[in-house]
Amino acid sequence: MHCTLGFFGAAQTVTGSKFLLSSPLGFRVLIDCGMFQGRGSDTDRLNRHFGFDPAQVDVVLLTHAHIDHSGLLPRLVAGGFRGLILCTQPTHDLCKIMLADSAHIQEMDARFLNKRRLSQGKRALEPLYTIDEVNTCLEAFRPIDLNEWTELNEEISFRWIENGHILGSTAIELLLKRQGNDLRLVFSGDVGRYQHSILKPPAAFPPPDYMICESTYGDENHPEAEVSIEKLRQVVERTCLQRKGKIIIPAFSLGRTQELVLALNKLVEDGLLPAIPTFVDSPLSASATAIVQKYPSWYNVELKNYRLEDPDPFGFESLTYIREKADSMKLNSLKGPAIIIAASGMAEAGRVKHHLSNHIENPDNAVLLVGYAEPGSLAGRLLAGQKEVSIFGEMHQVRAEVVVFKEYSAHAGQNELLQYLSSCDRSKLKKLFLVHGEHQAQETFKKVLLRDGYSRIEIPEMGETVELK
Ligand SMILES: [Zn+2]
Repeated sequence: MHCTLGFFGAAQTVTGSKFLLSSPLGFRVLIDCGMFQGRGSDTDRLNRHFGFDPAQVDVVLLTHAHIDHSGLLPRLVAGGFRGLILCTQPTHDLCKIMLADSAHIQEMDARFLNKRRLSQGKRALEPLYTIDEVNTCLEAFRPIDLNEWTELNEEISFRWIENGHILGSTAIELLLKRQGNDLRLVFSGDVGRYQHSILKPPAAFPPPDYMICESTYGDENHPEAEVSIEKLRQVVERTCLQRKGKIIIPAFSLGRTQELVLALNKLVEDGLLPAIPTFVDSPLSASATAIVQKYPSWYNVELKNYRLEDPDPFGFESLTYIREKADSMKLNSLKGPAIIIAASGMAEAGRVKHHLSNHIENPDNAVLLVGYAEPGSLAGRLLAGQKEVSIFGEMHQVRAEVVVFKEYSAHAGQNELLQYLSSCDRSKLKKLFLVHGEHQAQETFKKVLLRDGYSRIEIPEMGETVELK
């Protein structure tokens, strides 16, 4: 009898992370329980059917709070899962706000879609889960410290290893005990950056027998991170000081927003920019920032040192976090230069859509795009250089300057993935599975790895189960 590993998401795609490890005695460990994202017609179906019975899962190991890794946990619990969900303490804190926000989005989406469905005589869609189901799910969470070995049963132990992707994120090292020869598995989770403004670089790990590695940017490298702070200064100078305009930045609430705030804080505190009214206009971003502020032990050396001079790197005098909708609406009549950071990152929902519709036609303003955006999303259409975009059903001329920063990715680029994998011993490695990437990026990365001396590389298909011998 061997262990098996099933790939039930993030297989030849970047979302829906779900990996089911089954031991010879039938103990089942689910690594992540992520939501499939995107607009494909399959997405809803994939999110409603796991491909396995939630009641048969004994425990969940959660690598981080991003919704494409955690977003279906409430559905897993509602579907009969009765075990514990293990994660780090910051991941637990972040899931409280991220899953509640996700439930809110599910309910809004269902309401929106049902208007049309009911008028067409179709059956109403249920949201994937409700806020009550989120609260029930959160009761199953148990935080576990970094690097500490935990025994799941007599066959399997695991520990978290920091991987620099977002606050609280980890890789997982698993030890499968067998007579004579134990097996060591490492799941990379989402691998972060070696030069991050807040977090430590991904940590090395002991050489595994099986490696399961993400490959989102297996086919490209990111520009150097240090360049971006000067580029940011230049955009602010051009827009706010010279043209007296506003900068609108659609940004993910967790990660990107804090990186931007930290960069602006440094520019203001170092006297490189004057105090320009700056707003983080999102209750979720405000809550996420408060959680990042709570865990300085996760900061890298540079930020720890910086805090000796500036104890609050995520706050400065001209910065306001806005939670209330009425305060957000006051920004509409704000005169003069300003910087507005708001969710969502792809500008598909949230307050940033209102700010874009109010400001995109003024050539004095700028829209700064700092993250990945699906081609069909509003940010994606701006990224593609469209000169006219529809917002809330109304066409707008894009007259504001559109600036694109690629430096801020939370995922390792190709070189960084190679650096990460250098913890592996190529001769000991029985198999390297590439997950969490578009198929083309994975094929490109596989070629690079083969050239680099790796062999036995597999790109598993959705629903595939393999034996670990
Ligand atoms: Zn992630």
